[in-house]
Amino acid sequence: MQRIIQEAYRYASYSLGEGAPADYIPELAKADTGRLAVSITDLAGRTHSVGDSQIRFTMQSISKVVLLAAALHFSGFDGVFARVGVEPTGDPFNSIVRLETGSSNRPSNPMINAGAIAVTTCIPGDGPAQRFERVLEYARSLLDNPELDFDREVYRSESETGDRNRALAYMMRADHAITGSVPEHLEVYFKACSLLVNCEEISFLGAVLANNGVSPRSGRMLIEPFHVKVIRSLMCTCGMYDASGEFALRVGIPAKSGVGGGIMGAVPNRMGIGTYCPALDSKGNSLCGLRAMEYLSQALNLSLF
Ligand code: GLN
Repeated sequence: MQRIIQEAYRYASYSLGEGAPADYIPELAKADTGRLAVSITDLAGRTHSVGDSQIRFTMQSISKVVLLAAALHFSGFDGVFARVGVEPTGDPFNSIVRLETGSSNRPSNPMINAGAIAVTTCIPGDGPAQRFERVLEYARSLLDNPELDFDREVYRSESETGDRNRALAYMMRADHAITGSVPEHLEVYFKACSLLVNCEEISFLGAVLANNGVSPRSGRMLIEPFHVKVIRSLMCTCGMYDASGEFALRVGIPAKSGVGGGIMGAVPNRMGIGTYCPALDSKGNSLCGLRAMEYLSQALNLSLF
């Protein structure tokens, strides 16, 4: 296993120097694009890594998986999917266009920004602090890190510059797709995006999903098996933004990327994969991460297709 990860790392490293970090959130533009890590957590809970696997970065859109798991936990399938659809869009993750032109007022799926904001409205609590606290508690078990926290600077940076997300939320509220306070929903969403993780931890989250919701370390059921099926399906069809089709073809595993540079993959009944490099392609996916995923998929015959 270690040798294959080493080879995936080497193959991915040929793309170092290409792409650029996200700069629409100013704090993310400071990331060191020379960092690269690849981790695999197997279903016995052992994690194998090569590279900068201890470097912490913000989850960004990978948190959409945590938000969805938490919302399903608290509000159930019917509660969540009354507010969000399950169809891929083929549009960029922060696109607003379908909220206006789509056949329903619900956002298309939970893996785009509009959908994830709608999902946060399904996490109950007495105000945004308590609602985020519930997400944080849940994230701590899903990532097997009881100290997990969010990055205050990235949170501040994102809140200050998050007008596009505000526009999505206000548009949804105007159309009665969501109710309640937009600033409060966005506080939960931005804090979730700012959760600080490392590559090993996201590979563990992948392993929980690969292991049908059971923690491969404690043996505890963290996500109901039916919810895991829902989450993995949506990762497969929508998890890599408007590159999900190409990713299915080239890699063929349920995965979710984030503009912080992480990619989390869940290979059902086999393993969780984490990759990290903050230089992104034009669609917002980590370039070296894509390369590493491609290599692992080929070398270990991981494609579901
Ligand atoms: N926090 C980011 C945003 O809302 C997440 C986007 C992403 O990782 N694609 O724009």
